[in-house]
Amino acid sequence: MRTTYAAAALLSLSILWGCTTTESQEKADLIILQMNDVYEIAPLEGGKVGGLARVATLKQQLESEAPVITILSGDFLSPSLTGTLEYEGKKIAGRQMVESLNALGLDYVTFGNHEFDLKEPDLLARIDESDFTWISTNTFHVTHGDTLPFTQKGAPLPRSVVHSIPLGEDTLRLAFIGICLPFTLKPFVYYNTEYRQVVSQELAKLNDQPHIPLAITHLNIADDERFAQNNPEFPLIMGGHDHDSMRVAVNDSYIIKADANAKSVAVHRLWYQEDGTVEIKTDIIPITNQLAEEPEVLAVINKWQGIADAAMLKMGYNPTEVLIHTDSVLDGRESIIRNEPSYLGTLTCDAMLYADTSFTDLAVFNSGSIRLDDQIEGTVTMYDVLRTYPYGGPIKRTTMTGADLQIVLNNGRANKGSGGYLQTTQVQYTGSTYLIRGDTLEPDKEYSLFVTDYMSGGKESNLEILKDFTYQYDTATVFRNATKNDLRDVVASYMKYLESEK
Ligand SMILES: [Zn+2]
Repeated sequence: MRTTYAAAALLSLSILWGCTTTESQEKADLIILQMNDVYEIAPLEGGKVGGLARVATLKQQLESEAPVITILSGDFLSPSLTGTLEYEGKKIAGRQMVESLNALGLDYVTFGNHEFDLKEPDLLARIDESDFTWISTNTFHVTHGDTLPFTQKGAPLPRSVVHSIPLGEDTLRLAFIGICLPFTLKPFVYYNTEYRQVVSQELAKLNDQPHIPLAITHLNIADDERFAQNNPEFPLIMGGHDHDSMRVAVNDSYIIKADANAKSVAVHRLWYQEDGTVEIKTDIIPITNQLAEEPEVLAVINKWQGIADAAMLKMGYNPTEVLIHTDSVLDGRESIIRNEPSYLGTLTCDAMLYADTSFTDLAVFNSGSIRLDDQIEGTVTMYDVLRTYPYGGPIKRTTMTGADLQIVLNNGRANKGSGGYLQTTQVQYTGSTYLIRGDTLEPDKEYSLFVTDYMSGGKESNLEILKDFTYQYDTATVFRNATKNDLRDVVASYMKYLESEK
């Protein structure tokens, strides 16, 4: 379906959307290539999907049709396994992403919540290293006692960018704004959540020229829908944060998201009509091994993959080792694992119980140990396990009374929405009490359980109580199947067991 956006009059802008019944076959005047939530530069699922070098090939193919503007709707500097490694004496912290996206020829980004996972100096360095333009309408830098725009190569980040395309005697002007949700709260960041106010202030500055406003947003879909309601002049909202491709109509606007990690991209074709109307047609294009890898981007990716592979081999891991072929989705999205029991959480806990041949009642772990913020399915490799739990660490066993266990479980539930939310196995919450292995928790009974090293040190919010217990097992412990005591080895060993049992 193609949609018509009309009548950018001389000094004011009126919006008329409509759907054409026939799609003209002529080449577009302009194409916008949209990605969102990209943490991995190389293909995933055993090489089948994703990969920025393939996106670069698609971009080149589109460029033979029309000028292409490439955008990324936030979330790319973090998380990733590569980002946690060191190179040239410093944590990589998203450098691999910026170099790969520079090589791809990315044009515009806005902030996503994960950009603020980085330490302030690392984030400032990554913005400066970017050859693409950061647009930020609502997110600002708190520095030197003031709230200022972040800067890129010494210049303040623009609150909007007008991108002009000459078309014969006419000029097509696209006005991009960038909005980020207030998710990652850091002392050095200020989010203005009065989106309508900041956006209309920005658009008011552009009213001397006809333009088509386009939004690059990093919001959850409910907030994108509210944004569309409150800002009806935007025909197209190119969103992120949700990780699944979607196309949502709100009145005369469309919210479009692609799949995370460039498993797909959105291709928006724009046709400028002599009467001043613009038609927009969007396709979600899967990025698969049907697309060749563009050599220049591939060279950058290979450089960083080489650095990451060497680090993984040094840690004793073969990143390409296949562990399991699964039909179940391992959902490591933070919106899921920090809020509700999940299969990936149970599988992780079951892996702890499997590792130890002695009997343990239950296992719990802090969902913040999982830094994937993505879904894994199909062929699962050691690399997938490493990127799921980039910090690893030993697992520890302890015993405690049912009364103490109840405190731990209650506080874990109260941590909903944060990394201290507990994923469990052999635990069921009834609404008033817990069932442990199917039996009601008894306050005076002793229970044995596994936790992560991080939790055993009392480092997790509201779970400081855990530092008062005595723990069994350390990094020298060797578990079933000669498995090293590291969460990543424990999970990999369990996946191999599950595969062998098929
Ligand atoms: Zn996000």
